[in-house]
Amino acid sequence: MLEIKKNFSLSKFNSFQLNHTAEYFCEVLSIEDCYEAIDFASNKSLNIYILGEGTNIVFSQNYKGLVIKTAIKGISAINNLVSIASGESWHESVLWTLKNNLYGLENLSLIPGNVGAAPVQNIGAYGKELSSFIHSVKVINLKSKKIEDLSKLECKFSYRDSIFKKSNNYLILEVTLKLLSKEVVDVSYKSLADYMIAEGLDLSKATSNQICRCVCELRSNILPNPKTIPNVGSFFKNVVLTIEEYKKLNKILKIPYYLDKSGGYKISSAFLIEKAGWKGYQGKNVSVSDLHSLVILSNGKATGEEILSLANSIVNDVLKKFNITLAIEPSII
Ligand SMILES: Cc1cc2nc3c(=O)[nH]c(=O)nc-3n(C[C@H](O)[C@H](O)[C@H](O)COP(=O)(O)OP(=O)(O)OC[C@H]3O[C@@H](n4cnc5c(N)ncnc54)[C@H](O)[C@@H]3O)c2cc1C
Repeated sequence: MLEIKKNFSLSKFNSFQLNHTAEYFCEVLSIEDCYEAIDFASNKSLNIYILGEGTNIVFSQNYKGLVIKTAIKGISAINNLVSIASGESWHESVLWTLKNNLYGLENLSLIPGNVGAAPVQNIGAYGKELSSFIHSVKVINLKSKKIEDLSKLECKFSYRDSIFKKSNNYLILEVTLKLLSKEVVDVSYKSLADYMIAEGLDLSKATSNQICRCVCELRSNILPNPKTIPNVGSFFKNVVLTIEEYKKLNKILKIPYYLDKSGGYKISSAFLIEKAGWKGYQGKNVSVSDLHSLVILSNGKATGEEILSLANSIVNDVLKKFNITLAIEPSII
C-alpha cells in the first residue's frame, strides 16, 4: 500500500533547499501507485502537484494538497525508439543512450532532474532542445484519470515551454524519444565549439561521446552544483523579440542576437542582467552568480520570498533600463 505522509518537509526535495511542507506527500514507483495517490486526492478534494527532483521549482509557501514525487523506473529501446520512465535521471538516461549507440542527446548532457520533467519546460542546452527528439509522451490525464499517449504536436513545445508547463493536468509516466542510429553531431554552438577546439579536438571528426564529455566539463565550470550551492540553474528565460523591438533595444544597448526557429530575434538575458549591473550581486542570503548572471544562488538560509524578491528587483531594473520584461523560468509555488 502506498505510504502517504502528512505535513512533510520538502527541504530535501527542492534544489533551493526551501523548508516548506506539503500537506500530504507520497513517492510513486508504479502506475498503480499513481492511481492510488490520485484517488486519495480525489476522495479528499485535494489539489495535486507533481514533483521530480525539484531542480526547477521555487516554493514560496507550504503546499496545500498532495505532492506526488514520481520515481517510476525503466528504460528500453526498440531500434531507435527509446522509452524512459519518468523517475529515471535525465543525465543517466543520456549516458545509457550513448552506451547503446543511440545518438542525439549528447548536447543535453548533465542537465539535472528527472526524465518526467524534461518535456515540461522542453529542456535545452548548447543549441539543442528535447522536442527535436520527442516521439510521444505517456501521461495520466488527472481530470479524466485516463492514460493518454500525446504526440509531439499535442505537447505544443516551444522555447522552454509546453502544454505541461501551462497546465497541471498531466502526470507524465514515460517519455519516448526517437534518436539517431548514426552519429550526426552538432557543434554549431559557439562556446561548445570553442571549448572543443581549445581541447585540441578536430570539429570535423567530433564524436557524440566527445561532445558529452565537453558539455559536462563546460557545465561543471560555470554552473554551481545545487547540492553544495542551492540554485535552480537559469532563473530567467532568454528573450525573443520582433525585428522592430530588437532595433529599438539596439539603440540603447548594442546586443548580439541570433534568429530562433520562429524567425524571432533571440537575445541573451544574461547579457541584459550583466549590463544592468547585477552579475555577482551579493545580498544577505541570496546572490547572483559571478560566473553566470542568469543563476540566482542561496546560501542555504534564503527563503522563497527572498529569492523571488531578488528576481523581481532584477526584472524591474532590466525593464527600467532596457524596456525588456524578463520571464522567470522555474515553476513558482
Ligand atoms: C545547475 C542547474 C542547471 C540547469 N540547467 C538547465 C539547462 O541547461 N537547460 C534546461 O532546460 N534546464 C536546466 N535546469 C533546470 C532543470 O534541471 C530542468 O528543468 C529539469 O528538467 C527539472 O527536472 P526536475 O526533475 O528537477 O523537475 P522539478 O523541478 O521537480 O519539476 C519541474 C516542473 O516539472 C513538473 N514535473 C516534474 N515531473 C513531472 C511529471 N512526472 N509529470 C508532470 N509534471 C512534472 C513539476 O510540476 C514542475 O512544474 C538546470 C537546473 C539546475 C539546478
